[in-house]
Amino acid sequence: MDHTKKRFGKKDAVFIGLLLIIAILIFFFTNYFQKETGAMVTVTVDGKVYGTYDLEKEQTIDIKAGDKTTNILKISDGKAKMLTADCPDQLCVHQQAISKKNQTIVCLPNKVVAEVTGNTKKDYDAVVQ
Ligand SMILES: [Zn+2]
Repeated sequence: MDHTKKRFGKKDAVFIGLLLIIAILIFFFTNYFQKETGAMVTVTVDGKVYGTYDLEKEQTIDIKAGDKTTNILKISDGKAKMLTADCPDQLCVHQQAISKKNQTIVCLPNKVVAEVTGNTKKDYDAVVQ
């Protein structure tokens, strides 16, 4: 009886140890993901992908419909913001800068949508590891 109890205790310890390792792994994995996701911003115009841009690179993106620039998106400090737009409501210009995954800036009149996506090379690496 004593023997059975001992074995159970050892098995339990191994199980708890495994859980601990898994918990630590999940913790690091989640942390890594949170840091690395949302590193790109995808701009779509009228439902079509206009371009995908690195949020870590400072840049100004002219969003054009034909020859005309309708919106200008500015990326700085890891955030994307609508700098100017020729839409009548100017709602997109007043929207907050986006930096986290799935955050969007929408310009309804111009059908322009900027969305932070996690489709980065870093994400891919994280999945593979
Ligand atoms: Zn707008």
